[in-house]
Amino acid sequence: MRLLLIEDDAELTNYLRADLVKAGFAVDVADNGIDGEFLGGSEPYDAIVLDLGLPQKSGLEILAAWRKQKNRVPVIVLTARDAWYERVDGFKAGADDYLGKPFHIEELIARIRALIYRQHGKMSHSIETGTLRLDEDTQQVKVADDESQQLTGTEFRLLRYMMLNTGKILSKTNLSDHVYDQDSERDSNLIEVYVRRLREKIGHHMILTKRGQGYVFNDPTT
Ligand code: CA
Repeated sequence: MRLLLIEDDAELTNYLRADLVKAGFAVDVADNGIDGEFLGGSEPYDAIVLDLGLPQKSGLEILAAWRKQKNRVPVIVLTARDAWYERVDGFKAGADDYLGKPFHIEELIARIRALIYRQHGKMSHSIETGTLRLDEDTQQVKVADDESQQLTGTEFRLLRYMMLNTGKILSKTNLSDHVYDQDSERDSNLIEVYVRRLREKIGHHMILTKRGQGYVFNDPTT
């Protein structure tokens, strides 16, 4: 899952980014309204965290512009703690959720996960298919009654994205877009390497290759 964080407070951005990466998200950052609007309108983010008070263009203007362009990316706005009118304005402009500053990073992460799950029609906190259970807090995968296995950061991001998109054909470009941030080197051969490693952990039959198109995550017991 790839996030865009639009926030002009450099100190806040630094620690949010570090914690979001640790929580298994690829994170891009913009520190002003113009760059933020452009990135959010051109890259396929799974969710956007949007501060309202930004230099060059306000968060509300950016959000209204995206919605006008039918950009439905889930957006959490960061508001001043006691400013109820900011929350109302945020929802009117098309926000999906809000968080008042200052907040605990755990709450932001929980809200981002909830938004992304809802987007994919999932209800629960953990991601499960027939035989697989992916634990987001420990970044471990459990296959049926076997011992849990630890995943690397990239393996975790890749498997979570695939499990949330079960049954869909996922091209290597699509996978790279949601697994890596903007600054990472995008080599689609790397996706092949990680798919191979995942197959060794969860079973080869769980990830099908569609020649010339990409991969399909398919849990036969689901
Ligand atoms: Ca600000």
